Amino acid sequence: MTNEWAGGIFARNLYLVMAKYFSIDELTRSDTAALRGIDNTPTAGAMARLAVLAERLLDPVRELWGAPLRVNSGYRCPALNAAVGGAPSSQHLRGEAADITTGSTEGNRRLFGLIVDSGLEFDQLIDERGWSWLHVSWREGANRGRVLHL
Ligand SMILES: [Zn+2]
Repeated sequence: MTNEWAGGIFARNLYLVMAKYFSIDELTRSDTAALRGIDNTPTAGAMARLAVLAERLLDPVRELWGAPLRVNSGYRCPALNAAVGGAPSSQHLRGEAADITTGSTEGNRRLFGLIVDSGLEFDQLIDERGWSWLHVSWREGANRGRVLHL
């Protein structure tokens, strides 16, 4: 057994234990990756960070909202990030960010307000393209609490 493989198994199990509402599948699937044949399997490190993101931020946000949220984009391997025009330093590359939506711009605007008012810790909370989706991120030990409109 290689260390890399063992690390992947460990990270996957860690994910299953930590995350409540969001499957690893939801956080790694991508239409663009499927279309272009890009293997978007997360590294062990990225999967471990996705577990923390889910437990510390996505699950609490889901509970705030009280209904299912859709993940438009979670982890992105370098090839996928380049294919979707993501920033080279995007937190999606590290498994630290997810783009989520309630299914409507009005819902996204309300969820944004709920997150801000909740006092939840986060690194970035971004309203993207007029409430089309919300980008949320978690940086373990270094959350900045930045709120942006892009
Ligand atoms: Zn994003």
